Amino acid sequence: QAKAVGRNNLRCFDPAIQHDKHRRQALRAWMRDAIAKQELHLVFQPMITLETGLATEFEALLRWRQPVLGDIGPAEFIPIAEESGQIVAIGAWVLDQACRAAANWPATFTVTVNLSPMQLVPSIVDTVANALQQSRLAPERLTLEITETVLLENSASNLTTLHTLRAMGVRIVLDDFGVGFASLSYLQQFPFDKIKIDRSFVGDLERRRDSQSIVKAVILLADDMGMDTTAEGVETSGQLSWLRQAGCGQVQGFLLGRPMSAEDLPGYLLSYLASEGAGEVKVDAVK
Ligand code: C2E
Ligand code: MG
Ligand code: MG
Ligand code: MG
Repeated sequence: QAKAVGRNNLRCFDPAIQHDKHRRQALRAWMRDAIAKQELHLVFQPMITLETGLATEFEALLRWRQPVLGDIGPAEFIPIAEESGQIVAIGAWVLDQACRAAANWPATFTVTVNLSPMQLVPSIVDTVANALQQSRLAPERLTLEITETVLLENSASNLTTLHTLRAMGVRIVLDDFGVGFASLSYLQQFPFDKIKIDRSFVGDLERRRDSQSIVKAVILLADDMGMDTTAEGVETSGQLSWLRQAGCGQVQGFLLGRPMSAEDLPGYLLSYLASEGAGEVKVDAVK
């Protein structure tokens, strides 16, 4: 007990930790008005199907332009939003904006939204239904990404919610597979449409034989269970050709396309339609 108090006292005098604490407190307070003040926006990153070289799916990623501190990344502010419960309102806003954006794209393109574990409560079904209804986006054009944490707690209720969403026509993808509390038994709990292989494995593909083994095994496993795979964080052509050889279905990463703003995307997609006539984006790096 005394030791714990002593440590707490020490913490208060450590300027770096104190600075972090103040920053978190400030972010948490500022976040309350971030939607109303229009400081949040979405960017969209393409995923490319290796067989065709075409991008038809875009992942919505949240951005916060804070007037005092500048751009703050989701890796920093999403955990704070989860802690304070603000993720529920922010997540609903993300769903709404993502569906509205995608409704402006040609119908061959679909949108993918990340769901925080805290959002996966029964009311998410209404939130998703509302976002689809308001935007008039077909449910088949919406994919939700969740992490295995969702299956860790309150599992029975969460599974029911996932099945309800799936029955609406929305696709469900397991994000960041292989890190955190991942266990293969989660794959038996819910029939995911797709597994995203975490970028930590992808980044090591050219350096580590064991990362290659893991990625190969995940691709085979997913394929055998009737699921698709996306490798995230593809940055080099070496990684890309390795993934192609290993039979990975889809790739996403800075090599293939950076996240783009909602304003730029419709024009970009339409100019592709005009030049290719195929109705899909062709990404040169894949060829
Ligand atoms: P994620 O869902 O795994 O998203 C992929 C992250 O990897 C994105 O970071 C993306 O910009 C980044 N990325 C993509 N390609 C590359 C690459 O080639 N190299 C590297 N180094 N990074 C790449 P971002 O946008 O900073 O998002 C980080 C995480 O924050 C996301 O990971 C997701 O878990 C969370 N997040 C983002 N937007 C939302 C949201 O709207 N709601 C929720 N709940 N979480 C979100
Ligand atoms: Mg994701
Ligand atoms: Mg991911
Ligand atoms: Mg990730």
